[in-house]
Amino acid sequence: MSEDRKTKSPPVPGVVVVGVWPETTGEQLEHLRAALVLEGFSAHISRGETRTILVCVGDASPMNMAALMVLPGVESVTPVRKPYKLAARESSVDPTVVRVPSARGPVDVGGKELVVIAGPCSVEAEPMLLETAHAVRSAGARMLRGGAFKPRTSPYSFQGLGGEALEMLARVREETGLPIVSEVMDTREVERMAEMVDVLQVGARNMQNFPLLTEVGRTRRPVLLKRGLSARIEELLMAAEYVMAQGNRNVILCERGIRTFEPATRNTLDIAAIPVLKAETHLPVIVDPSHAGGRPDLVGPLSYAAVAAGADGLIIEVHPCPEQALSDGDQALEPVQFADLMQHLGVFAVAAGRTLATADPARREP
Ligand code: PEP
Ligand code: MN
Repeated sequence: MSEDRKTKSPPVPGVVVVGVWPETTGEQLEHLRAALVLEGFSAHISRGETRTILVCVGDASPMNMAALMVLPGVESVTPVRKPYKLAARESSVDPTVVRVPSARGPVDVGGKELVVIAGPCSVEAEPMLLETAHAVRSAGARMLRGGAFKPRTSPYSFQGLGGEALEMLARVREETGLPIVSEVMDTREVERMAEMVDVLQVGARNMQNFPLLTEVGRTRRPVLLKRGLSARIEELLMAAEYVMAQGNRNVILCERGIRTFEPATRNTLDIAAIPVLKAETHLPVIVDPSHAGGRPDLVGPLSYAAVAAGADGLIIEVHPCPEQALSDGDQALEPVQFADLMQHLGVFAVAAGRTLATADPARREP
């Protein structure tokens, strides 16, 4: 063994947060970033009002960290000790706002506005999609959901219209201006879907499909990552880490209820997961009260509770005629019920220090 191999500690892949002195200029920061790259790190700058950090992925061995401490401009060097690292709260100065670009101006998830996403479980035909989109938009929804590929428990159930549904979603976006959220189930579809939809949904059943997480991480599309049916909070964060490790930091987490012994509801909404996630990560957290409760009468109460607990948004299933829906009709709201919910939600949003699109009458359609 060479002398060098004997004395050098083995590399420890990890994430290190490098804090810089408050007076550091933009130019010095860029120099520091270049120096970190020379040390073998990839460095991402996270700038807040009062603090700036560089989030560095690379060899976090003690020796390497000591080398970072002496670089000009460095105030502190702290390894992220949690198993999730880029997703950990300390890896960003401020909470992350995921920006979804759209023709009518971006939709920001994780900011002051409570963002409501609504639409059918699956895209069944263009007229029903368009009708739902207009209805939810005028009630204050900021994005349209609609499944093209459906993860169904039975292979004999409706599986979604696939590519045809993606075309319909694109046309309805064109007509309404609402960005589209749709589930991607297959690594082979990621590229096409990343071109056609605005937010890539990874469903509960795929939360630990690591090749899929890696593939959506290679795109730069915002990802809506749903908690698995029996996934722990830490496992949800590790799934987010898979996406982020590929360079895609635009992850929105979604609590959608977990399996428990209680059969009165489809799943059990884990309300505590919202404040726990808010403490553990800088990523935005939204709630799906439709799949959690599995009943239309529970969608309102679960939505209000989610907003009170600090959720950044909601994703709600709405169908023009729930009894005829090809999937999840049992839990869908009719458009008028959705509009009613949005009216009531305004009070909770204000109490939680949020704004809601319905609060602005100018945004409503005539
Ligand atoms: C859905 O959004 O229609 C869906 C299938 O959700 P989940 O993955 O949470 O079950
Ligand atoms: Mn559904």
